[in-house]
Amino acid sequence: MAKFKPFHDFQKPLMGLTPESFLDYIDTVIPKDHLCRLVKQVVFSLDTESIEAKNSFLGQNTYHPKLMLSLLFYGYATGVRSSRKLEEKCISDHIFIYLMQCYTPDHRTISDFRKNNLKEIEKYFVEIVRIFNELGFTQVGKIYIDGTKIKGNASAKRTKDRAGFEKWLSAIQEEIATLMKEGEAIDKEEDDRYKTDEEEESLKKKLSNRNHLKTKIEEALKMMKEEDNNKVKVNLTDSDANHMKSGGSKDIRPGFNCQASVTKEGVIVAAEAVPEANDRSQLEPMIEQSESNTKEAVNEVAADSGYGSFSNYEYLDQKGIDGYVPDGYFQQYKSGEYNKEENRYHYTNFTYDSSTDSYICPEGKKITYWKTRKGKTKSRDWNHKVYRGRECGNCIKRSLCTKSKVRELLIHIHEPLLQEMRKKLLSEEGKLKYFARQYIIEPIFGHLKFNLGYRSFLLRGLEKVNAEYKLMCIGWNLKKMLAMGIKPAMI
Ligand code: SF4
Repeated sequence: MAKFKPFHDFQKPLMGLTPESFLDYIDTVIPKDHLCRLVKQVVFSLDTESIEAKNSFLGQNTYHPKLMLSLLFYGYATGVRSSRKLEEKCISDHIFIYLMQCYTPDHRTISDFRKNNLKEIEKYFVEIVRIFNELGFTQVGKIYIDGTKIKGNASAKRTKDRAGFEKWLSAIQEEIATLMKEGEAIDKEEDDRYKTDEEEESLKKKLSNRNHLKTKIEEALKMMKEEDNNKVKVNLTDSDANHMKSGGSKDIRPGFNCQASVTKEGVIVAAEAVPEANDRSQLEPMIEQSESNTKEAVNEVAADSGYGSFSNYEYLDQKGIDGYVPDGYFQQYKSGEYNKEENRYHYTNFTYDSSTDSYICPEGKKITYWKTRKGKTKSRDWNHKVYRGRECGNCIKRSLCTKSKVRELLIHIHEPLLQEMRKKLLSEEGKLKYFARQYIIEPIFGHLKFNLGYRSFLLRGLEKVNAEYKLMCIGWNLKKMLAMGIKPAMI
């Protein structure tokens, strides 16, 4: 008949619980190696004086920042991040009750704490990264860089270009004029007071809503005209969110490009959410941030072809960093596309002769240096050496090689760096080094987006989005700490 677990004597005191005895009880239930114990220890090792100083001695007592940070860090590590869910967890989940020491903050308090301590959250991300380094659990020497797009907290329908906003503004102005006329008509009606009062109230609401919208559109138009002429589209809800494809989706939505730099152990040592959809300009900032956060030098980096550019190759060369970063055409090059007969006259099939600074074309003729072209035009940055064919006039293959009278080769001045990079990536060692990024950094984004459901941000504006992204990364790093065997007693 022993169907149910028996009641024990030690369970009886639970009937008359105090917060202290309840916490003592929970402490006995939580496994010694549970993540929450590590989170608590890490948070209690952080300096929270700057947050404490924000609270006045006057007024009501507030929750200690160490408790609130424990709540946020553990929440973000486990996929609980909305302030309402966190509020509910502080009542119903014994791990959250343990971390909040039986306090039950409401969602507004949780949300305000997160919004009011953005700078501190970013600082704690760095301090937690340094714990790994100080304990010798990770080293920044080799890093892997990648980015993932995460949707902003804004609707795509509210993203428009200047013409779109102007059209929308004139429609709203018309609507406001119609509503005003309706309001005047209601004022004249005297016979049915009850009905008109109701209508008047609804009209007032509509009018205030449209006026608010009108102001926001005017602000967006002003911003587009004065501050950011290059920004083609702006989102009305979150003007920092940029139009980009998120994840594997074909939809273009307002969002942020979330960059991460990860060590070979899988620790995120640098993270930044940026509005630029393109990864190309993020390699240098991520390397610099990795070095600044860890106070160590980066000497090897792997990143996908989104980061491949002449300026990045130049940067890596100047810093003496061993890079494994393919260019946008590396796959074609690797697959032998340029060796095909139809690509016989592709510039990669012209042989460079360094002794005369010239090229030999596939027909054995010389293409000599003509001039260097530098500067910027609307469509392109010029930093090229121009080579010209001297014997093209009589060439019977000319129609296959060029549409002009003579063949010109535009060779970027850092072309040798590109060729060196391709050679390295094709070597056995290079293949292994580049391949490592696939199983080191990509699973992190997979975990954040698909396991924890962080496919969109809750907060709006670049600063807040960045703090939220750092919370996601803190959550990952804390779980990593546990997986790497870092114990609370070691901190
Ligand atoms: S057109 Fe000039 S560069 Fe092209 S194959 Fe003929 S000689 Fe060579």
